[in-house]
Amino acid sequence: MRISHLFAAFAAMAFLSAPAKAEEASRAPITIVIHGGAGALAPGRYTPEEEAAYKAKLLEAVNAGYAVLEKGGRSIDAVEAAIVVMEDSPLFNAGKGAVFTRNGRNELDASIMDGKTVNAGAVAGVSHVKNPIKLARAVMDESPHVMFARDGAEKFAREHGLQMVSRRYFRTERRWKEYKEALKADKEKKGASLPYAYDWKFGTVGAVALDRDGNIAAGTSTGGMTLKRYGRVGDSPIIGAGAFADNRSCAVSSTGWGEYFMRLVIARDICAQVEYAHKSVKEAADDVIHHRLPDLGGDGGVIVLDPHGNYTFAFNTSGMFRAVRQEGAEPQVAIYEEK
Ligand code: ASP
Repeated sequence: MRISHLFAAFAAMAFLSAPAKAEEASRAPITIVIHGGAGALAPGRYTPEEEAAYKAKLLEAVNAGYAVLEKGGRSIDAVEAAIVVMEDSPLFNAGKGAVFTRNGRNELDASIMDGKTVNAGAVAGVSHVKNPIKLARAVMDESPHVMFARDGAEKFAREHGLQMVSRRYFRTERRWKEYKEALKADKEKKGASLPYAYDWKFGTVGAVALDRDGNIAAGTSTGGMTLKRYGRVGDSPIIGAGAFADNRSCAVSSTGWGEYFMRLVIARDICAQVEYAHKSVKEAADDVIHHRLPDLGGDGGVIVLDPHGNYTFAFNTSGMFRAVRQEGAEPQVAIYEEK
């Protein structure tokens, strides 16, 4: 090849690679944001060892989700991967370590949503499915439906080869003790049943993620609330309340007093404010979490992420277990409110 041809070939290569580089430079940074529940988490509540254990598990979960994104994987897979780590940990109120119902059982709820397709899956009141988030995903991917509940959800899980466990798998001594204490406190109040007002922190888990293709996703998994009554379902598996994702606006995962999150359709409200009122994710989340929710008497928090990589944590409790990892930055993990 003559020198001039060689030069032309290099020039062509440079030209061809230029748009790819520009695309990379203008692409939003891959991001994953997670929470492990909001609640009464003032400093001093946990020993330094306990705090370290929570932080290590949050870091493991955020890294598990990030590893999926880093390999070019989908945001929906990153959300699932991060949530599975927290469901498998007894530290959180999801999967193993779930809180107990009034009848002394564990009944789990979960939901997942893909912002690209606006497809969603959810399950409510399952007691034998090791990872309810995987079941929610199977409902989304392998059925024409959005939500399955209780026995039907478990039948679907068996049919789709999900790992099933005995009821005992979910039980931890710590949650059982909390349950007994809550029951006693409730009886002393002579039936004025406000289990949620007790000082039990929430421990629901959730994740929102943004992948290399610019798609966002959200997921939430929980054991619900201590002393919840037979058949009670909270916000976590309700699309639009406990989770929501649409590439046109944002992805949200909620945690807190579920009844209020359902009444306010919080996840969708935040994304609607982003979509129609052109608010930033922070403005929209702050409006809902610091005004609408407490105005009704509710509490809790959300994580929110948009397809540009803007994210926010908002909570009106004294703390929220949380972590974020965004391309180009170190992972961050926190528990208490930052003053
Ligand atoms: N939102 C959940 C529920 O009401 C509880 C939580 O977030 O901790 O079931």
